[in-house]
Amino acid sequence: MHALIIEDSPVFVKIIEHTLQALGFQTTTVGTAAEATATLDRQTFNVVILDLNLPDQSGLDFCRTLRTNAAHRLLPVLMLTSDESELLLQRALEAGVTELFHKTRLAEIQVSLRDYIERMQRQYKGRVLLVEDSPTTAALLKHMLTRMSLTVDQFDTAEAALDAIPDGQYDLIVSDIMLAGQISGLGLVRSVRAMESEVARTPILGLSATEDAARKIEMLKLGANDYVSKPVIEEEFIARVGNLVSAKQLLDEVLAQRRELREHSIRDPLTGVYNRRYLAERSPQLCVQAERDQQPLSLLIVDLDHFKAINDTYGHDRGDRVLAGLGKLLGERCGEEDFAARFGGEEFIVLLPHCGKTQALAYAERLLEALRSLRPGDLDITASIGVSTITPPQPCDFDKLFKIADEAVYRAKDGGRNRVVQGHEG
Ligand code: GH3
Ligand code: MG
Ligand code: MG
Ligand code: MG
Repeated sequence: MHALIIEDSPVFVKIIEHTLQALGFQTTTVGTAAEATATLDRQTFNVVILDLNLPDQSGLDFCRTLRTNAAHRLLPVLMLTSDESELLLQRALEAGVTELFHKTRLAEIQVSLRDYIERMQRQYKGRVLLVEDSPTTAALLKHMLTRMSLTVDQFDTAEAALDAIPDGQYDLIVSDIMLAGQISGLGLVRSVRAMESEVARTPILGLSATEDAARKIEMLKLGANDYVSKPVIEEEFIARVGNLVSAKQLLDEVLAQRRELREHSIRDPLTGVYNRRYLAERSPQLCVQAERDQQPLSLLIVDLDHFKAINDTYGHDRGDRVLAGLGKLLGERCGEEDFAARFGGEEFIVLLPHCGKTQALAYAERLLEALRSLRPGDLDITASIGVSTITPPQPCDFDKLFKIADEAVYRAKDGGRNRVVQGHEG
């Protein structure tokens, strides 16, 4: 980063040089407007610090002339003054000054410059899909995006872009309005917003050479987030891309946190299966679904045998290991549809949609066998399992399903434990 200081007071020159060098700037100092003009013609600078009163010209006139040169239109010009009037501020902005600073408050310059450096040097992590059919513009934009540390995939038609979007994990789509294929940038925006998964909310930055306001508005209405005109001004492009990528990543983070919180709120931490709260939420839904699809629904209550004795003999931690082992087993055995929850201390519930009487009984037998061979906590563990099934056209009633299985568990315990018992329907 290189700064040009245009200031004739040796005292201020010292202070400003010191401030800028502390921020890592290289500095060149000149005392007159004429010298400044010559220096700017020879060399490129990232920022200019300009005094309001120069020996050969007013700082305002100097800035006004500077802005007529296309090469210096975007160069930040920070003006130093001891005059704080509103009028000067207005005149300075009209002359093209970027910011005005009072000479006694140089600390503000330091803050402002630090922000500026951060903005220019900020690195992003992310993937950008660039849809642009002009090779020159595409190369230029790709260069800017790559300099921001973004990874870029480029296509020249919306068709090719739409194929890549679902699995591309893009943080931003930058698309031209006029494209080579059949689908325009407007069509691309419409298609992305209509996609079913989360990719539908990928931010989109529109690009166009046309000054056609109606088309820009149309693009924004269809769901583009922002818009840049071509030829692209690098600083503007970087700022808009940066804003969209940051916002997208922030939203991703928030959504991930929300998912995690939700997971925590519905899982039992020790066993990893769902908790009783989620069972209460899910069971009526499964009942409604079973009735609607005219399908059976089965329920298992799994109650560990003599578990209190395990705690008493081997300690509570060992007991926890047994519970965690059973939880893991249940988790592995429950596919997409089946649902396992911890109902209480050492009692678990498994809900089996689309599962009739015979199948449920077989499932329970296999589960008991798996538990015996698992030896969770390195102990010989058995359970008593009660099974109940509701078959259409019987109305699906969770309380009834539970009661029948509970009564079956009681009989399993009574019959000597380590067994599966099918419940009697009411
Ligand atoms: P039964 O065969 O009749 O079911 O006897 P049981 O000992 O398994 O049944 P009981 O209901 O008398 O005891 C359950 C025990 O489970 C009592 C309680 O201390 C223990 N328990 C409940 N929650 C936990 C837990 O999170 N960790 C451990 N280690 N033990 C627990
Ligand atoms: Mg084009
Ligand atoms: Mg019990
Ligand atoms: Mg028990």
